[in-house]
Amino acid sequence: MKAEIIAVGTELLLGQVVNTNATFLSEELADLGIEVYFHTVVGDNFQRLTEILDLADSRSDLVVLCGGLGPTDDDLTKDAVAAHIQHPLIQDKDGMKKLHSFFEFSRRQMTENNLKQALIIDGGTGIPNPTGLAVGSLVTKNDTSYLLMPGPPGELKPMFVQYVRPLLQKLFPAKEQLVSRVLRFYGIGESQLVTDLKELIDNQTNPTLAPYAKPNEVTLRLTANVSLDENGEALLSAMEKQIMEKVGDYFYGYGDENTLEETTVKLLAAHGKTVAAAESLTAGLFQSMIGNVSGASNVLIGGFVTYSPTMKRELLGIPQELLDEHGVVSEACAKAMAESTLKLTDADLAVSFTGVAGPDELEGQPAGTVWIGLAGKDRETTAAVYHFNRDRQYIRCSAAMKGLDLIRRAVLNKN
Ligand code: ATP
Repeated sequence: MKAEIIAVGTELLLGQVVNTNATFLSEELADLGIEVYFHTVVGDNFQRLTEILDLADSRSDLVVLCGGLGPTDDDLTKDAVAAHIQHPLIQDKDGMKKLHSFFEFSRRQMTENNLKQALIIDGGTGIPNPTGLAVGSLVTKNDTSYLLMPGPPGELKPMFVQYVRPLLQKLFPAKEQLVSRVLRFYGIGESQLVTDLKELIDNQTNPTLAPYAKPNEVTLRLTANVSLDENGEALLSAMEKQIMEKVGDYFYGYGDENTLEETTVKLLAAHGKTVAAAESLTAGLFQSMIGNVSGASNVLIGGFVTYSPTMKRELLGIPQELLDEHGVVSEACAKAMAESTLKLTDADLAVSFTGVAGPDELEGQPAGTVWIGLAGKDRETTAAVYHFNRDRQYIRCSAAMKGLDLIRRAVLNKN
């Protein structure tokens, strides 16, 4: 069962709208065991749409089209598919009823072009639109099925979930299923991860491995293609075990959405630990990242933004002599900030950030030089220097993420 997705709309080609429908549809189809082989974006142009339909027809069993079902002249999808399979357009009874009652209820005059939205391709099935007026449709000709859905995600998604999903399940009962798992890594770059896993990646068949680099982290998607009675999870777990043997030290969590801050907050809560921070170059970013996670109040005591040396002195009591002797971008300053924060807040763990966000250097140290200190009730205070690169914002974010990872590791007794 080969499927492809064609998103229709000049606004997509111009970069004004992101093709999120393709992402949504790909995930949903994979979930139904339908493999998507191609994504195409084509403008509101009859000729070019027809060319793409010819190609799609030659290579796919299911062609999913989204967009171009509206009332205006540039909405051409139905006309193009109807012409391609040489079927006429007819009115969908339920769609017509909904159209009329919509205009009656809103006491507005319906213009002629609105009728277009209730047309479907003869021989096909009309698909109700729970949140709009343009009906969808599914039509099959010569072993190729065409599924037409509206462009606005607010219409496409409910239509898919409520009506298209059950329809596809009935029409194309799954023989196989795709099972996937996302592993998240911090502290290792994509190129290093791929190198460390080279053997597994080179020999991958089932499950497949797909690394994806994100700012400051890498995710690895494991996907197994199995028959309905096969245990896909077991296959994934066996592969995960091999991966962990090589890069397990950098692994922090599962899933598409599970961020480092979420993992850290959950871990702190699970261990009944609290955290506080003293932030110079990050200026509250670390605390804000923790604060973004629901449940932060159980673990975040608070802390200090001590951007200037004066604030380091006045809020944290860092001696002027220490600043004079070592500078603010120093191991001594990072340690003193963390220790003072621990004492003042009575947190279980305190982290400190002091460094050069850039673009200019400070105390003769280049942008990206960051000392992070870590103090804890039952641990010796440590501080380490990091050299982050890219722009100011990235450096500050990298520092805050490193702080999260240090806290996470401290809770797990990993550092
Ligand atoms: P309408 O009845 O609103 O005209 P339509 O089916 O004709 O619906 P389009 O006119 O193609 O849809 O698109 C309407 C809007 O839907 C676009 O301006 C855009 O905001 C959104 N949209 C269209 N296609 C996509 C897509 N592939 N991904 C995300 N959003 C999309």
